[in-house]
Amino acid sequence: MTKRLLAFAALALCATALRMTPLAQAQSAPAPWSANLQDIRRAAGLIPGRRPLRVNFLKFAESRRTKNFSVKGAPTLPSVQARTAFQVVYPDGSVMVDAGMNLAVHKFFGRGTEEPYFPEATKQIDQALQKARLIVATHEHGDHVAGVIASPLAGELAPKTVLTRAQIQTLMTSPQMPDIRLNAEQARRYVVVDYDTTFPLAPGMALLKSAGHTPGSQMVYIVLESGREYLLIGDATWHMDGVRDMIGKDAPWITEDTAAVLAQLTWLNGLSRTEPGLVVVASHDDEQHAALIQRGVLTNRLE
Ligand SMILES: [Zn+2]
Repeated sequence: MTKRLLAFAALALCATALRMTPLAQAQSAPAPWSANLQDIRRAAGLIPGRRPLRVNFLKFAESRRTKNFSVKGAPTLPSVQARTAFQVVYPDGSVMVDAGMNLAVHKFFGRGTEEPYFPEATKQIDQALQKARLIVATHEHGDHVAGVIASPLAGELAPKTVLTRAQIQTLMTSPQMPDIRLNAEQARRYVVVDYDTTFPLAPGMALLKSAGHTPGSQMVYIVLESGREYLLIGDATWHMDGVRDMIGKDAPWITEDTAAVLAQLTWLNGLSRTEPGLVVVASHDDEQHAALIQRGVLTNRLE
């Protein structure tokens, strides 16, 4: 082969490689995260029974972090991250969304800094967990699940706590902290579910798979008897500016699927325009919670 022919063959190979690469990637890459509110509404309507009457929540601790950790590029201004649990009240019982945490787990998050912790609120959350018919977690981080794992009540609460296969997987293999690690025998005590997109949880309630912040992250949709709709988005963002600006976190101590989180923030941003009546609630946005209490759409006490 002449030199010129060799060069041509090499060029042709390069061109083939260039054409092949994106296709090969497309075949192996998982589908990007997406969701449809109509599907979620339908799932929430599948289980017969009276729908919930109201949504309560309680703040049991605070984390003081500057805002740039919650929203990348935001100014380094002081910001309160509320740690919260939610109670969905039915005419004949209640469902808890997230479960609080004990002081030891709180101290783990403080990483040596003293941060506010409200033991009286934790006591109320424990009582609400005991009263609840069902408990579900937005994701498998300590500030959301420790109350049903690293707790003297774990044995009593586990049989009515719904955890997803992905959440269980993380808790067994790579828990955020040693206190919330589950062994195989402990894991069997929980109600474990697996689903692809949406899961009907209770009358007027459905789960929306939202892996991103963690592999087991999910959002919780609620429609009340009054017709008011809520979407508890867990830690998809820590501050609603993340939804408004469609910008993710900048927190080196967590590992997220940033593409999935961005898709979720983009979808939520769109909903704020197309579904102005939908109350989207971030677990940790203290400013948003205050505004929602003011509007009367969230009650800051448990029953
Ligand atoms: Zn959290």
